[in-house]
Formats: sequence, structure tokens, C-alpha cells
Amino acid sequence: MIEIYFHNSLSGKKEKFSPANPNKVTVYSCGPTVYNYAHIGNLRAFLFVDLLRRSLKLLGYEVEMTMNITDIDDKIIRDSIMSKQSIQEFTAPWTNAFFDDLEMVFAERLEHYPKATESIPEMIEIIQKLKEKGLVYEKDESLYFSIQKFQNYGKLSKIDTTGMKTGTRYDTDEYEKEDVRDFVLWKAPRVEGEARWETELGTGRPGWHLECSAMIRKVYHGGVDIHTGGVDLLFPHHENEIAQSEGAFPKESFVGTWLHSEHLLVDGQKMSKSKGNFYTLRDLLQQGLDPKSIRFLLISTHYRSKLNFSTDRITEAAGNIRKIQNCLDRLLELEPGYQPEKTFEFSLSFILTWKKEFEESLADDLNISKALAVVFESVKRINLFWNSKKNPIAQTQAKELIQLFYWYDKLLGVLDFTSKKDLIDSEIDSLITQRQEARKNKDFARSDAIRDQLLEQGILIEDTKDGIRWRRK
Ligand code: AMP
Ligand code: ZN
Repeated sequence: MIEIYFHNSLSGKKEKFSPANPNKVTVYSCGPTVYNYAHIGNLRAFLFVDLLRRSLKLLGYEVEMTMNITDIDDKIIRDSIMSKQSIQEFTAPWTNAFFDDLEMVFAERLEHYPKATESIPEMIEIIQKLKEKGLVYEKDESLYFSIQKFQNYGKLSKIDTTGMKTGTRYDTDEYEKEDVRDFVLWKAPRVEGEARWETELGTGRPGWHLECSAMIRKVYHGGVDIHTGGVDLLFPHHENEIAQSEGAFPKESFVGTWLHSEHLLVDGQKMSKSKGNFYTLRDLLQQGLDPKSIRFLLISTHYRSKLNFSTDRITEAAGNIRKIQNCLDRLLELEPGYQPEKTFEFSLSFILTWKKEFEESLADDLNISKALAVVFESVKRINLFWNSKKNPIAQTQAKELIQLFYWYDKLLGVLDFTSKKDLIDSEIDSLITQRQEARKNKDFARSDAIRDQLLEQGILIEDTKDGIRWRRK
């Protein structure tokens, strides 16, 4: 199997990846807080998880992956009280919306999606262990983690705790790096109507950081090979996860590799709910943008680089997909009924080289830019083959090339392998009707886009006195 290298946030270096079980990789990713629609910045983080999953599978690994659903936190409590609903009633539609979003951008389903509210016993177990080790103290019936008593605090974020005032703490779920304090593990109820659990630790509810430590244990009964999340989660959230898990189970390995994905920006600023500079997937789909293009844009920048969002960039992504799809469509015309196979032996040396280069790019810390460069190089070459009289594409080559695209698409998830031949007449009629509609609504951008799409496929439209006619060039 090809060697994979990941940039591990713990060491700050690219390292050879060696999972505890050489054939099966375990992954945990911090998931959504379900109190509203996710914005497409969140979606970038979730699509990074999809890219990681598809890359590991493509490179020959079996995977077992988990993403948590945060269905209790400060914001959820605030909004559910406001809407006079229980936590479960309030979060259910937002949880469904999250799964709908993932499906719309072709993200594969993971093996596990545990909920925080269903993992309370595992949280209690961790707090009990931490208490035994003397890492917990109580104040006003809430329980706090004493970070100065945990020797390795700061090993991920490299934060310096020396200036920290003993006994200062945070009750809130989120806070800034400048101010290191003890964090809350178990919160006594403070607000009327607040969700609470009666436990041997007293009445209350968990702090946010605790849930990920607990769910990793619940699913894997130990640690994981890879833990992912957005860069904003590195401190305090992931630092606190380490403190909880390694504090409670010092003899076990918690996380082998930490991967942090960078932010999606708007005009140079992080996209976020609080700034109001965000779009949801639904906003973009309502504008007529194609979910495949949104997916392509969000995965096509390396996960450790910031990505500035704009609708122009989605149009650019749509153009890039079309370039690949057009090339594939021509191959499918030559082999109309060909169904890509799950296992396929490539034989042509140039195809083997592209496949190898594609895989090597992914194995190099998921270098998607290099992988896409291989895809576009092969598209360019294949287009040249078509035009060359000496070396037209033969049937066997067409089959292997379709398979190659199938291979690429295991990662990209945006290509269509249905042969266009039989569909084409009805498709054209439907596109023409859509174009008429768009013109009626004065949506000339859309009607022009449809005309261009038809032209590209060699279809000419004519306005005649009997209505619209079309013919092939
Ligand atoms: P939340 O639902 O707020 O808990 O966030 C879910 C995920 O989205 C986390 O991994 C965050 O780090 C990530 N995230 C939040 N804002 C952005 C952004 N603008 N760009 C990329 N990822 C983000
Ligand atoms: Zn988490």
C-alpha cells in the first residue's frame, strides 16, 4: 500500500501516517451544532471529512468514521427555551437539515453519528475518572477541570499556562485563546427551563468539550487514528479534549494524527453566523447554483489553505466540471453501454501513470491541487488524442479511460456516467422549455447559459414562425 503523509497539528510537521490497525483507519470529526442551518463554511469542514474518507478508501484502507451531533450547548438551550420546545423537539429538524445538506453535496454517509444527549453515561464515566485523579474541583455545584494539575496542558495549541491565575474559570462553551482558564465539565442548572440530567454527579448538564472525549470512547472503546475539526476548534476545544481523555485514561493513546481544516472566508473575513456574512447551501441553490459546483469549489482548495468564497468562483468550478464531463461524454459516446467496474485492471501505461500520480498527490497530505492538475492534464491529453489522425481513441482505450474517470470520481463525486445518447432528444426538449421559461421571466443569464450548453453539444436553436426548432450541427 502507498505510504500516506499527513501534516499533524500536534507536531506541526508532515509525518508518515501509521494507523494502529494497518488495514482499518479510525477517524473522529467534530460535527455540527444543530440549532440552525449550517453555512457553507461549516460545509467546507464537513466536505473535508468527505475528502479524507474518499482518499483513504481510494488508497486502499477500510475506514470507520464518526461525526458527532452537538445537540446540547449554550445556543441550543437559549433558542429552545425561546421557542418553548424540548431540546429534542428543537434540534430534530436541524439535524435532518444537516443530513439533507450532506446528501445534496454528495458527501458519503459515515459509519456513526452519535448525539451528545445520548452519551451522558460515557461523560459521567470520564468525570469520575478525572475526579479519582484529582483533576476536578467543584464551585457552586458545577464541576471544573483544573488545567494546572494536568501536566501536558497546551501540548496541541502550545499555549503557555504559566501566567494563568489559579482558580479562574469559564462556564461558557466557547472562549478566546488570550485568556486561559479552567473549563467546565458539568454545569449546574442556572436558567429556568434549562435541560438537565439527574446523575450521581448531581443535577446538571455537560460542558461542550466533554462530549467529544465521551463519544470517541463510546464508539471506539479507546482512541482514534485521526481527529479532525476546523482550525477554530484547535483551542480551546481540542486542547480540552486531550486534557479530559488523557487525564482520565493516561495509559491509552487518545489521538494519533490531528488534522485541522482552514476557514472559508468572505471578503477576507471568516464566514460565521455571528458576523452575518454567511450563505447556507439552500441560499445558493435558490440562486440556481449547482450543488456539484459548490462541492467542487469547496473541496478543490487544499484543506490547510484559506478559501475566499464568491459566486464567480462557483461559476469557475462549474466550467471545470464541464471540461471533465465533456471529455467523459465523448468517451461514453464511443462506448455507450459501458458501466464502470468496481475493480478493474488497468493495462495502458499512460493511464497507469495518471492513476499513480493522482494517488500519490492524495497520499501527500491530501494535495488536491496536484491531484486536480493530473485530472486536467489527462483531459487535455485525451482531447488531443481525439484530434490526432494518427492515434484516434480505440474501443479498449475508451473503456480504460472511462474507468480512469470513474477512479477520479471516487474522490471528486461530481461526474455523470450515464451515456447521453438515448436521452439526448428529450433532454434537449426539456432544456429548450426551461430556456423559454427563463426568457419569459427575463432571466437572461440563465437563458444564455442554456443556449451555450446546447451549443457546446452541437445543438442549434432556431426561432421559426411555427415556434422554436432545433437541429444538430
Ligand atoms: P459548528 O456547527 O459551529 O460547531 O461548526 C462545525 C464545523 O464548522 C467546525 O469544524 C468548525 O470549525 C467549522 N467552521 C465554522 N466556520 C467555518 C468557516 N468559516 N470555514 C470553515 N469551517 C468552519
Ligand atoms: Zn469536538
